[in-house]
Amino acid sequence: MSFKEILAKLDLAKFKDAVYGATEHDVHRVLSKGKFCVDDFPVLVSPAAAPQLERMAALSQQITRLRFGKVMRLYAPLYVSNECVNACRYCGFNVHNKLARVTLNRDEVFREAEAIHRLGFRHLLLVSGEAPNKVTIEYLTDIVYELSRTFAGISIEIYPMDLEEYRALAAAGVTGIAIYQETYDRAIYKTLHKGPKADYDYRLAAIERAGEVGLRDLGIGALMGLTDFRIDMTCVTLHAAYLMKQFWRSQISISFPRIRAAAGAYAPPYLVSDKELAQTVFALRMVLPDADLVLSTREHAAFRDGMAAVGITRMSAGSRTNPGGYSLEEDSLEQFQIADDRTPAEVSAMLIGKNLEPVWKDFDRSFLFE
Ligand code: SF4
Repeated sequence: MSFKEILAKLDLAKFKDAVYGATEHDVHRVLSKGKFCVDDFPVLVSPAAAPQLERMAALSQQITRLRFGKVMRLYAPLYVSNECVNACRYCGFNVHNKLARVTLNRDEVFREAEAIHRLGFRHLLLVSGEAPNKVTIEYLTDIVYELSRTFAGISIEIYPMDLEEYRALAAAGVTGIAIYQETYDRAIYKTLHKGPKADYDYRLAAIERAGEVGLRDLGIGALMGLTDFRIDMTCVTLHAAYLMKQFWRSQISISFPRIRAAAGAYAPPYLVSDKELAQTVFALRMVLPDADLVLSTREHAAFRDGMAAVGITRMSAGSRTNPGGYSLEEDSLEQFQIADDRTPAEVSAMLIGKNLEPVWKDFDRSFLFE
């Protein structure tokens, strides 16, 4: 059964009742369990659990240490294009924003990659808007094939694709994918998206197509702030649990992007506070102990530092969210503003200072047996 079919049977109103009807007693009952499950998530993310943040942090830290040790995996995004045919209301790359657009040619991509490699990264995330006429499959397979000589892991965060396209990318050297549903609420999704991305079902099923071709790393998430984050993150939790069962050979990762200011004038309808985001991370860690939890440089340094030891297991660092940002054009259109502008070396030093181990490379293609 696909996740679309599972989602169709879920009653989101029931989640709302579970989240907003949770009492102090429910929270204590759940927290006193030795082991948690996805059904506990609505209570753990509820406003009733907010006063228990410190206790949740301690539990989350214990579980993280047990499952992941002291490891913090580092990666860098490489924006290959800021062109996009979609009109997502919340995004700086929205087709209606009449700002400088660029798709890097292969030499420019390699120059950017070299700059990222020099910073120490061996895991790369290729990012673009939805511009299938510019960022074609041929373009992607060509650059991925080259980049896989020097990068151990190459993930993509681009537009959703067909099974055969994912197969071609996997054969070229793509090892992972990140594709966020943005919101699982169909009605709100419809009001926010125009263009090919408006096809909710095609996007939702993309991660399963990527799983079918055997990508090692399957990343999902919701854009926190588009709607009630507690309900969306409950759906993310169920989605991740489904993927873990279905694609047990892959690592399932979850991201928590909060909407930030971008080119255009979109004001997020729901503002998610630091405490609410932290509670969400702890709740997720408690119910999905094996999930890789990812925090990007959208978040400010103090918050990232605080979360590093207590739930998060993967971080970007020194990110540029504009194409050419590492080595070429310094001021092309960026997708969102960076809140943590420290260098990768500074982030690494922070992690070491917290007795964590920054990991720039945790996989090699030679591990794969043909
Ligand atoms: S969110 Fe993605 S698809 Fe939507 S406008 Fe931005 S880059 Fe394009």
